[in-house]
Amino acid sequence: EYLANQIAAGEVVQRPASVVKELLENSVDAGATSVQLIVKEAGKQLVQVVDNGHGMSETDARMSFERHATSKIKTTEDLFCIKTMGFRGEALASIAAVAQVELKTKKRDADTGTLLLAENSEITSQEHVAAPDGTSISVKNLFFNVPARRNFLKTNAVEMRHILDEFQRVALANPQIAFSLYQNDSEVYKLPAGKLSQRIINLFGNNYKEQMASVEENTDVLQVHGYIGKPEFSKKTRGEQFFFVNNRFIKSAYLNHAVINAYEGLLPKDSHPFYVLFLEIEPQSIDINVHPTKTEIKFEDEKVIYAIVQSAVKKSLGVHNI
Ligand code: ADP
Ligand code: MG
Repeated sequence: EYLANQIAAGEVVQRPASVVKELLENSVDAGATSVQLIVKEAGKQLVQVVDNGHGMSETDARMSFERHATSKIKTTEDLFCIKTMGFRGEALASIAAVAQVELKTKKRDADTGTLLLAENSEITSQEHVAAPDGTSISVKNLFFNVPARRNFLKTNAVEMRHILDEFQRVALANPQIAFSLYQNDSEVYKLPAGKLSQRIINLFGNNYKEQMASVEENTDVLQVHGYIGKPEFSKKTRGEQFFFVNNRFIKSAYLNHAVINAYEGLLPKDSHPFYVLFLEIEPQSIDINVHPTKTEIKFEDEKVIYAIVQSAVKKSLGVHNI
């Protein structure tokens, strides 16, 4: 079982940023309104997420380390209509196979909380403790027991970049939740709950305010909303292009092409426009790759989606040549 967990862990947990993604998504799923991320040594020493979500009972807390112990799917039909981010029940079990985990949690109506320590896929200690409502999970010394994987980690700068990417994605997808990020005890971000436009400005800088246009397009098959950067605001480097489908971040060269196409002739050579676009679509008409770490997606009718995204962006740019 321990070996099985370590193998599964290899799928889910590739680097500190994978832990960040899974923990932040769990906090979102738990209905938190405030989430704090604390990292040390680019997550190699510590990734901690503290939330004020619904917390776990003692039994649920123990269960959360079991593989396929998800509380989020009850029937197979649910799989096709996923409302929560998590649905595999693999993340915490995988993390506990390759790191030292401390879980402190308390349900809102409970008198006391639970503190669990786990490592090598075993719960090593359990006690009742005083705790604030919500959940705090600390993941220490990732891959301490898998030296080959530990050695494979990149420099702190590279690992921190991956962490920031994950943090930004979750923060953009959930502007109604307050987020903060601390890196080696200093505050990197403090993001109050608010509107998407304010979240973008808080994440990327005040100058974005003047440089964005809003996007809004509603059709029967697809709703699109978000912000795009003005053409002259494009950058030589990539990295500020975000698609979310039903609030999940996805990468799509195909949809990126639709956006770039909409800018036709307006973009400076070899430059990439800023965009944060949210697509809402019937869950039945998409196929989210169920691989733990993939952020790819298939649309049933991708040509239609392409055309709608393109026209939404054109409209926002004030280009009307249909
Ligand atoms: P999944 O998210 O796919 O269900 P995880 O391994 O990420 O699987 O989590 C296992 C279970 O632990 C979740 O289904 C949930 O019940 C519980 N859990 C994890 N993190 C939290 C949290 N921050 N607050 C409340 N419950 C949590
Ligand atoms: Mg999860």
